[in-house]
Amino acid sequence: MEKSTKAVRSRLSKAKNGDPFAAPPIFAAPFHLQGDPSASAYTYGRFHNPAWTALEEALSSMESTDSMDAKALTFPSGMAAILSVLSVALRPGGVIVLPANGYYTVRGLIEKFFEPMGVEKRLISKQTDPQEEILRGATLLWLETPTNPGLDVWDLRAWSEAAHRAGVLVGVDNTTATPLGQNVLSLGADYSAVSGTKALTGHSDLVLGHVAVTREDLWRQLLEWRTLTGSILGPMEAWLALRSLPSLPLRLEKSSANALAIASFLQGRDEVLQVMYPGLPSHPGHALASTQMSYFGPVVSFVLKDRESAENFLARATLVTDATSFGGITTSAERRGRWEGDAVAPGLIRMSAGCEAITDILEDLSVALESV
Ligand code: PLP
Repeated sequence: MEKSTKAVRSRLSKAKNGDPFAAPPIFAAPFHLQGDPSASAYTYGRFHNPAWTALEEALSSMESTDSMDAKALTFPSGMAAILSVLSVALRPGGVIVLPANGYYTVRGLIEKFFEPMGVEKRLISKQTDPQEEILRGATLLWLETPTNPGLDVWDLRAWSEAAHRAGVLVGVDNTTATPLGQNVLSLGADYSAVSGTKALTGHSDLVLGHVAVTREDLWRQLLEWRTLTGSILGPMEAWLALRSLPSLPLRLEKSSANALAIASFLQGRDEVLQVMYPGLPSHPGHALASTQMSYFGPVVSFVLKDRESAENFLARATLVTDATSFGGITTSAERRGRWEGDAVAPGLIRMSAGCEAITDILEDLSVALESV
């Protein structure tokens, strides 16, 4: 079955006359429980919840392929999902290898909490050329593709093969593309980590994340970590996420088409110094992205002359909502340099294409560019 069909039908409960299409969320701390706990599907709200089960089944099926079964676990944010992988994989003396240009909060998390506990961090920047020597003795390779905010494309097959040859586990942050846009587990990752806050749920009203794996032992470790730490999703968030998932194919198709139209338009404008979008044939990672991704995603980054130009552009655009985050149904953007963690050009704007009529967006961008 196509993944889009799986997503669209992911919320349906088993057909039974009189039942709603989607089961309502269950709000419970303890569940009724007499005698042996192992005889009951649900016991206590930190261990399991029917709304998570439904969401995790939907995510598992989206992360799976015809020849590979994946199992997903949900977490209360994308960072909580990433933390769960780092926590089960890394111990004092362990080594994490990760891109210098990925989402900066992940590097911050490692620097603040893992390095002081004796974990070594090695930064890499060659996307297509796995360096065997940097992987030697490492524990975990952490990749992100396309990267936020630079939209660099990492060669997942090549890096995963090199990592596995060196006995290194591979985790991939698949937030930008979503599991519908790119199946990182089939490209070699051991862990697929996704912030569902972005395009996966796409309505800008939820913060959540998930991790999917194919190995039962890795799934058990993550489950144990979640149960012991209590890093859990509320039932309402799980239910809202499941309500958002069926529209992902429509949203991703439209926002990716809009992103490509925006990137092509910006490329033809003199005010724009550089455009980064993996769907553009001129992007250095385009050929590779075409083999890894089925949608190039909603995020386009571009560089204007300086900070002032970028601020003028954002102030003038009326259909580009000023906000951080990306992947929502509404077109939004921000000057990325306003956050301290990102080493980017002062005029770099990260834009997230929404699902509006593209003619309206392009007209708005055209007017806004006149003000820079
Ligand atoms: N990964 C990437 C690529 C992100 O851009 C973000 C957030 O911006 C995260 C992970 C973290 O997600 P969350 O904000 O849901 O914790």
